[in-house]
Amino acid sequence: MSRETRELVATSSRILARHGHGDFIWGHSSSRDVEGRGAWIKGSGWGLDEITPDRVHLVDRHGAVVEGEGAVQFEYPIHTEILAARPDVGGVVHTHAPHATALAAAGAELLPVSHAANYFVPPIVPRFTLTADLIMTAELGAAVAECLGGASALFLVNHGIVTVGPDLETATFAALLLEQAAEQQLRTLAFGGKPTWSEPAESLAKREHIYNPIAVRKAWDYLVRSAPTGNLG
Ligand SMILES: [Zn+2]
Repeated sequence: MSRETRELVATSSRILARHGHGDFIWGHSSSRDVEGRGAWIKGSGWGLDEITPDRVHLVDRHGAVVEGEGAVQFEYPIHTEILAARPDVGGVVHTHAPHATALAAAGAELLPVSHAANYFVPPIVPRFTLTADLIMTAELGAAVAECLGGASALFLVNHGIVTVGPDLETATFAALLLEQAAEQQLRTLAFGGKPTWSEPAESLAKREHIYNPIAVRKAWDYLVRSAPTGNLG
């Protein structure tokens, strides 16, 4: 089972890298340990595109490596505290997605100018503003989880994003959608003209039609098929 989970985290990491979430060695995704011991997450010091199953380890709520090896991410509390606060969450992604970070820093709310943002809106995507520094303590991790509430995404303003899902596959796809939505919004607003976007009722209908769980699973399968396997590790 742990091998399977390590492979999932490695695949998630490489998909995130391929779709514009890489920021040198920063950013990470995690999957809940089925035995409740913590979060399977990539070790510190590797780029998302470099992650193999052997570079994924299990970290508990106190930051101790329970299984595997490697240095622990400073920001592991984002994962462990959200998993503790949200029993419905099985996967967490934190990256410094460039367009989403820029949009949040501009103070803009995410608007459904195309399909992607309808996955999140309504409600509005919460904004965490307590600090733009690293989330390195359980207290800050708990504050992030509180700000996230029941949502599927959060802006860490002037820092990055967090997305969650019932499993890591969904959380990963959500991260890709959030970045895509932000990029489309920035392009729309930069162009000028008279921007339009969906009303809440249409957003909810589009969410059901486009991003229902079956469609999300098929999108994940596509992402896996197109993920680079390379010669890593
Ligand atoms: Zn970060």
